[in-house]
Amino acid sequence: MKYILAIDQGTTSTRAHIYNQSGECVHGVSAEFPQIYPEPGWVEHSPQDIWGSTLSVIDSVLSESGLKAADIAAVGITNQRETTIVWDRATGEPVYNAIVWQCRRTAASCEKLKKEGFAERIYNKTGLVPDAYFSATKIKWILDNVDGARERAERGELCFGTVDTFLLWKLTGGKAFSTDYTNAARTMLFNIHTLKWDKELLRLFDIPEGILPEVRPSSHNFGEITEGELAGVPVCGIAGDQQASLFGQACFSEGDIKNTYGTGCFLLMNTGKKPVKSANGLITTLGATATDKPCYVLEGSVFVGGAVVQWLRDGLKVIKNAAASERAAKKVADSGGVYVVPAFTGLGAPYWDSDARGTITGITRGTTKNHIIRASLESIAYQVYDIVAAMERDSGIKIKRLSVDGGASANNFLMGFQSDILAAEVVRGRHSESTALGAAYLAGLNCGFWKSDEEIRKNRSIERVFKPDMDEGERLKLLDGWKEAVKKARLK
Ligand code: ADP
Repeated sequence: MKYILAIDQGTTSTRAHIYNQSGECVHGVSAEFPQIYPEPGWVEHSPQDIWGSTLSVIDSVLSESGLKAADIAAVGITNQRETTIVWDRATGEPVYNAIVWQCRRTAASCEKLKKEGFAERIYNKTGLVPDAYFSATKIKWILDNVDGARERAERGELCFGTVDTFLLWKLTGGKAFSTDYTNAARTMLFNIHTLKWDKELLRLFDIPEGILPEVRPSSHNFGEITEGELAGVPVCGIAGDQQASLFGQACFSEGDIKNTYGTGCFLLMNTGKKPVKSANGLITTLGATATDKPCYVLEGSVFVGGAVVQWLRDGLKVIKNAAASERAAKKVADSGGVYVVPAFTGLGAPYWDSDARGTITGITRGTTKNHIIRASLESIAYQVYDIVAAMERDSGIKIKRLSVDGGASANNFLMGFQSDILAAEVVRGRHSESTALGAAYLAGLNCGFWKSDEEIRKNRSIERVFKPDMDEGERLKLLDGWKEAVKKARLK
């Protein structure tokens, strides 16, 4: 059997990729599915759409590549994290739509928890800052708001799962009811130190333990598929999308760090066996490994990453497409003292200021649209710098290189500037889909398709390394300017 198949169940689409022994993607397909917005700020998916799109991408990727189940050694699953599904154990019928990670319906109950002083206890156990993103308050909402759900849950008739668990359960015809450490860590019910569901948190959120899946290592034989075209193939890897991307970037060692430049940016740093407490509002969570024990990870995100480029295109209308931002930025020697702080919805780590607003500083008579475009791209790099610096302070680890992926990592100007501002190498892999690749690695390492982390590291195909090339005085001057601009964005 020459291939591994990865299912990447994302927020707007479901994808399937087939990888060969060298870790190259031989074929990939993608299917979008509908977003459901029942009220402002609420986001749902139909579990049937999630399942249906999964079956359909499996069918297409096999038929288009001319491969069969017998050619596939194992399947890996990676998924949108935190999204919550509750279903009937006997019939598989969901009791409600999937409540998506972005959904804000439980924001008020999270605020209440903070006011009542639970934030520190929750952080100490789960590594998370109480927020509506995480599954706990979403599960409680379903049990409290769907007729009869709580009674059925108490009687053991219901199952809760994040999307990985739901797909695994469906694929194995209801036989496997499990999740992996990285997904469990996003529920706000899992103790990342004892590696067990936390009874005190289950009481706090009023959730019966009987609805929870078993928690397994990310690289593990979760069971054999019985449904659809992949019948007979085992699922041997599961990880949440950002952790799968960290693994797909071969960030296996303490101090390895990756950033995904999408609409927002997601930075994850492997801190090895040590859970690192953050003094800067970063999350402490679990990462995937090929062993029985997870590693610890520091995670931080930038709200507006590639989205600032969308704003240049659709809001200001100064570029025709995202790629044009690189050409425009290169037309000027520097940003001419202009800083853009894209705090459109406030600022996240390490500032945590929801009242900050977008600000442009340093405009003079000589400022052109190319300066503003350049400063907008630079703002992505500065925000990433702020999080890396916070991670370095928290962990005591000085980073040497940043592995990158995501749509905006295609921008060579941005990657070069990022390397200069970090004074570290920026390493871009040949595979843009490091999330699916990570799930494939986890599955392939478990079933013996790949032998070791080392083999994967060797396989890893690097497309380009950006090396820092900026005078230290200049770097510090630019960073000072950024700090001043952020101060202005935070003026009330
Ligand atoms: P997501 O998964 O969040 O949808 P993607 O990884 O697909 O994001 O990346 C899309 C984002 O990357 C968009 O915000 C887009 O503006 C930005 N982007 C894409 N190509 C470029 C480019 N060449 N330069 C700068 N930004 C880009």
